[in-house]
Amino acid sequence: MTLATVAEVARLIFDRPLLKHELDIVWHAGEPLTMPPAYYKQAIEIIERQRPQDVAVHYGIQTNGTLIDDAWIDLFEQRNITVGISLDGPRDLHDRNRKYRNGSGSHERALAGIAKLQARGYPFHFIGVVTAPTLSRGSELIDYYQGFGPTAIGLNIEELEAQNTHSSLYEDCTRETFERFIGDVLRAAAQQGDRPVVLRDFQRTMASLIAGVPEDNDQVIPLRMLNIAYNGDISTFSPELLALNVPQRQRFIFGNVHHCKELGDILSDDRFISAYREISDGVASCASECEYFEYCGGGAPVNKLSEKGSLRATATSYCVFTKKAWVDVCLQFANARDNQFEVSLKM
Ligand code: SF4
Repeated sequence: MTLATVAEVARLIFDRPLLKHELDIVWHAGEPLTMPPAYYKQAIEIIERQRPQDVAVHYGIQTNGTLIDDAWIDLFEQRNITVGISLDGPRDLHDRNRKYRNGSGSHERALAGIAKLQARGYPFHFIGVVTAPTLSRGSELIDYYQGFGPTAIGLNIEELEAQNTHSSLYEDCTRETFERFIGDVLRAAAQQGDRPVVLRDFQRTMASLIAGVPEDNDQVIPLRMLNIAYNGDISTFSPELLALNVPQRQRFIFGNVHHCKELGDILSDDRFISAYREISDGVASCASECEYFEYCGGGAPVNKLSEKGSLRATATSYCVFTKKAWVDVCLQFANARDNQFEVSLKM
């Protein structure tokens, strides 16, 4: 993304009254650190120049960690940037899918980046992708992550979405197997003694169970998440809608930062109106059909589209593994006597 595009993004996002007092800006997808620290320094300066005084902006980067060095950590420290490391666990699990063009895995270099963060005492969290071979190693996975002292651990699943047309989980894993994996993960987390594990998926699930109100689902509410492509194309709802193949992707581009006068313009775009109608229909069907609706809020549009071919769909493999299984296992653990978990309602 050019700095001129960054300036246009800043102009639009600080457009009142759509914005309240807090904003998270996260660079992710592809590998954000392939651009140099100087680029982000300038980009953040541009954003900060346009930021209203009563709006707090939190910056974040999701990276594979392989390029982290002291220059990066200087920038992270200067701008208090939240760092997420994409690490799928021990070497064999990670290198199975995260390879360079020459076929070698990136695990070793990711660990070198993590070691730099640790040496400087800079906090980071992990996001890992769970594939079929991970399922028998839930306990080992938690021990492995915890050994690095992360602030939190998030477990994504290998999804069938956008350009990822294959999922080992969907092919080889039953709901029972996945629930056993979650149980192993939670038991391992509970046994970490004086090193409490902050497990994103457990926190989210328990927070929605305790709150007793329908899940506020950012992926189905317009402009909760504003997703901007490298060229300034604007989308909203699931971020991965921007990763769809052309021409499907075109359906979810509702404007461009270089052409919109204000952010609200996208709400009158025909493609937005059509997508929002279909997504809302899907949410309404979820609400009437699914007993997990209040813990889910109607799922992820991109997964409905990728798995079922329609934004109006309801149940997907994605929601079985990321919502239903977690709710059921968390309820079992929460109801167990002498459980050793704590839940923070703020993540
Ligand atoms: S769990 Fe699945 S079917 Fe139920 S509300 Fe969520 S997306 Fe819809």
